[in-house]
Amino acid sequence: MRKKVILLGATGSIGSSTLRVLREHRDRLQLVGVAAQSSHRELAAICQEFDVGHAVLHCEKAYLRAKQANEFPASTELSAGAEALEALATLPEADILLVAVVGAAGLRPTLAAIEAGKDIALANKELLVLGGAHVIEAARRKGVRLLPTDSEHNAIFQCLQGHPPEQLDKLILTASGGQFRDTPVSEMANVTPEMATQHPNWSMGPKITVDSATMANKGLELIEAHWLFGLEPNRLEVVIHPQSVVHSFVQFIDGSILAQLSPPDMTFAIQHCLLYPDRAPGVEPTTDFRKAFSLDFKAPDFVKYPCLQLAYDALRTGGAAPAIFNAANEIAVERFLAKEIAYLDIPRLIEHSLEQVTAPATPSLDQLLQTDAETRAVARAHSF
Ligand code: NAD
Ligand code: MG
Repeated sequence: MRKKVILLGATGSIGSSTLRVLREHRDRLQLVGVAAQSSHRELAAICQEFDVGHAVLHCEKAYLRAKQANEFPASTELSAGAEALEALATLPEADILLVAVVGAAGLRPTLAAIEAGKDIALANKELLVLGGAHVIEAARRKGVRLLPTDSEHNAIFQCLQGHPPEQLDKLILTASGGQFRDTPVSEMANVTPEMATQHPNWSMGPKITVDSATMANKGLELIEAHWLFGLEPNRLEVVIHPQSVVHSFVQFIDGSILAQLSPPDMTFAIQHCLLYPDRAPGVEPTTDFRKAFSLDFKAPDFVKYPCLQLAYDALRTGGAAPAIFNAANEIAVERFLAKEIAYLDIPRLIEHSLEQVTAPATPSLDQLLQTDAETRAVARAHSF
């Protein structure tokens, strides 16, 4: 029996790495549903190649264009919009949903899939930062697996296998330090979108590449780790590791530390989640110790990376603060890429939003979504 997979965000960076895994393991995995925001031609080509039965374009205009040009195979049922995305995530025949859309848009379809009893492979971190409490509670209640696909969390998940939670001391997330790791703080004011969307180790979508530069990505991942593994911020650490080969560490109470290693390529984590608990040969060759290389580690500089400090603070504050951090960061990155604000305005806009937006201490899901919308409005309206 092949495992039946739905892939949200099929045309993105994680999406294309997932397709490489699916190509390699056609005997074990079958793609039954795909979604994208607006890249209709790319999505149609995926449906053609993998004979996919169901496809959704979030953008209505893109859907109409695809229909007019008759781009999709006759055997693919194509629909559009947010509701169609939720329906796709609950396809009765599917076993597992891989969430590789970017941003908070992944939350509703993920919750719908959990309610429908699907296992979830989670690449998207923003949805956990926004609605972590609700996602974790729903997954527990429904008894579905939440498989961490973000490389750091996948590493931690692998290292934790067979170890009871009371033996765990802390988690240490590795971070590349981004493209400006060796740039002096004094030169950071001149960073352009062109510079911030190039990453030395990983090939990723534009939003997460900027997040890597500011380390807002590691901030989001701290919050993600809090929800996935149930640890408080004082037991979550970050270390800069420029080579991105050690994907994270788990430290036990006796001082032993375990790590997971593989090259900086997302197919390793994606395949681990899709085949879990099974394993099979990987898509790419792994780290080769017969070749000389070194692994370096150093503590992060919170002055250089204020977004990391803001994320720690938001996690400590709790309630809706992580949701505000996430929404403000999404808008800040969008405005930076549109050249409306400067690179150093990204943390300033997050800080401003955290000060301006107030929310209840234990927000319901609706209140979180309201806070998310309010934060976006505040962050869009603010000028420096
Ligand atoms: P990307 O921008 O390359 O791709 C995003 C995909 O989502 C595209 O297919 C796009 O069409 C689709 N999409 C966006 N909004 C949508 C919507 N509302 N409805 C349906 N589809 C929508 O992004 P990416 O780099 O692949 O990242 C995806 C997620 O995975 C992000 O949350 C990111 O933080 C996380 N992640 C990425 C990497 C990586 O290596 N790229 C690593 C770890 C985690
Ligand atoms: Mg990561």
